[in-house]
Amino acid sequence: GGYRKGFFTQPARREMGAGRDLFGRRKDGSEIPVDIGLNPIQIMDEQHVLASIIDITERLAVQTVESAKRADRLRRSILDSLPFSIIASREDGVIVTTNPAAERLLGAGRDELVGSHIADIRDRGVKESAPARGVDEQEVSYQRKDGQSVPVNEAIAPIVDEVGGVSGYLAVAYDITQRKEAEAFIRHMAHYDFLTDLPNRTMLFSRLDAELSRAERDNHGLAVVMIDVDHFKRINDSLGHHAGDEVLLQVAARLRDQVRASDLVARLGGDEFVLVLADVETEVELADRITILLDVLPEPITWNGHELIVTASMGGALYPRDGADSTTLIKHADTAMYNAKAAARNTFQWFRSSMLDETNDKLALAAALRRALNRGEITVSYQPEIELETGAVVGVEALARWHDANGVPIPPDRFIPVAEDNGLIIQLGEHVLRTACDDVARLSESVGRPLRLAVNVSPRQLQEQSWIAVMKGALRDSGFPATRLELEITEGIFMEDPAKIVELLRTVRALGVSIVVDDFGTGFSSLAYLTRFPIDKLKIDRSFIHDVVDNRASAAIVDTIIVMAHTLGMFVVAEGVETEAQETYLRARSCDVVQGFRYSEAVAATDLIATNSRLRSRRPIGGGPAGGATAEDAAPQEGAFKGVVAVDSASAEAGDLAGGVQPVDG
Ligand code: C2E
Ligand code: CA
Ligand code: CA
Repeated sequence: GGYRKGFFTQPARREMGAGRDLFGRRKDGSEIPVDIGLNPIQIMDEQHVLASIIDITERLAVQTVESAKRADRLRRSILDSLPFSIIASREDGVIVTTNPAAERLLGAGRDELVGSHIADIRDRGVKESAPARGVDEQEVSYQRKDGQSVPVNEAIAPIVDEVGGVSGYLAVAYDITQRKEAEAFIRHMAHYDFLTDLPNRTMLFSRLDAELSRAERDNHGLAVVMIDVDHFKRINDSLGHHAGDEVLLQVAARLRDQVRASDLVARLGGDEFVLVLADVETEVELADRITILLDVLPEPITWNGHELIVTASMGGALYPRDGADSTTLIKHADTAMYNAKAAARNTFQWFRSSMLDETNDKLALAAALRRALNRGEITVSYQPEIELETGAVVGVEALARWHDANGVPIPPDRFIPVAEDNGLIIQLGEHVLRTACDDVARLSESVGRPLRLAVNVSPRQLQEQSWIAVMKGALRDSGFPATRLELEITEGIFMEDPAKIVELLRTVRALGVSIVVDDFGTGFSSLAYLTRFPIDKLKIDRSFIHDVVDNRASAAIVDTIIVMAHTLGMFVVAEGVETEAQETYLRARSCDVVQGFRYSEAVAATDLIATNSRLRSRRPIGGGPAGGATAEDAAPQEGAFKGVVAVDSASAEAGDLAGGVQPVDG
């Protein structure tokens, strides 16, 4: 029932062979397109099917025209709204039509474009490849009407006529200026440092490789100089990365100023820069330029009211002497730089092959130091400090000493930086402090005179929360009075969180302990901190004392420091005094205390008294006024220490000093 019902209630016409064209054959044998319909009809009471065959030739003709029109409209509107430039040209290259995007891209109207030659809008140099490569895309430039050139991505498609021949070409193109810019930016980013815009590591290596091949071909030398900003981390940590950035920018600018067109400055990352200096054969040739570099970098940088003085350590390697490839040369310049850093900041060193062993030894050194500390093999020596006015030893500076298994001394300038790097300085510092407090407490007792004790303290130690407790512990356990303890700190510490440092120094001073600024004059911060921080004493760096007699600049610095310190109520110590002339100079400027090889090097606690005797015995008897000698001899209970004063009695000034030798009150 359902079937029948369905058949009748849905008498929709069903096309047979839908989608397929049907053809009928006419009597004359020709074919015509037909449509066949089968329709159910009811005649009388019976069901019949009416089959109709309709000639659709006419209908089809109309449809074709209409759909062609529609398709054309559609095509046109697509072409018009496409963001792609479309230029249709004849086989000979004459443009027949363009779309609006093409007109916009070229800055010209359709009427101007149609009839001109496609080769005229494609920049010279790419004409040749014009319509050759089918639909492959390529990057070419189009010439705008205003003469500007636009980079485009272009695809050429042949226009094929009915018989399969090529009747012309469609050039479909889009503007890639932005993509080009983005690519250029990315390329730049890949080769230049973002902050300083100097070539980066990648660029450095490729340029250096090129320079090396050139040097090899032309039989030239070249130099690679590694530059590392001293204490950069401290600037960054204390003043923030904006200050750090400013420093790096300034360093970059100064380095850039110092190189020639044929040279290269690159930033390796962090605070490391590299110079590649072309056509350099020998170390001597570069001496002047290196001096200039060392001079210009420390010129003050003003940042947010701070005056920063930045120094750098530098190491150099020469091609071909120190290496033939970029990796080796940079590695060796780096090794030399680390040696420079260890020797003293703000210096330059050339690579020496002996340095390699030292670098390789760094880790071994750290391990050996840990072992030595645990075995108590780090000892402490003491260098006397002498009051100039009285000639009396008023105190000693404790200096760490380490001898390797063969008894060869390893200098503190080598192991202290290692200890600072790996944190061992905490343990080492406590060991030195405790040993020194014990030793000097006993020494004071045996010489019957209170001696002051100066101990070097690394910034790293002061950062440690437990530092105050460690110091109190050492004082308590040794019985050494806090009022005679001096902490030698370096200027760098003032770069750190000032509020925190002021509080720390106040706490230290509240205990009676004094604050000495060590290596004074070599720091990179402004002198303003002298009034802000609680400081008792300045120790003028030995580099200034070294040439105070024959270098006006050093002399001026020394003079200024002494006057300034006295004005601010601080004492002044000069370290590294080696000659009589230096002493004379310092005395004339009223420097308070001197220290140096002229008097004594650092000696073991047990040797201090012996050293004293040795120095005394070197003194020609009667060289000075009798009064001085007598006063000294008459007071043997004051202890041997007075005699350490090694002011050469043979000199004219000796008398003044000897006369002034007196016991020091605490
Ligand atoms: P510093 O604190 O400036 O110590 C003075 C250095 O100058 C000592 O070198 C001393 O031997 C040397 N010296 C003394 N008089 C003269 C002189 O007349 N001429 C010359 N050219 N040098 C002289 P040393 O003992 O090799 O110590 C080097 C540095 O190692 C010290 O410099 C200090 O910064 C560091 N240091 C030594 N012991 C310790 C320590 O226990 N803790 C810390 N944190 N650092 C230490
Ligand atoms: Ca010192
Ligand atoms: Ca010093």
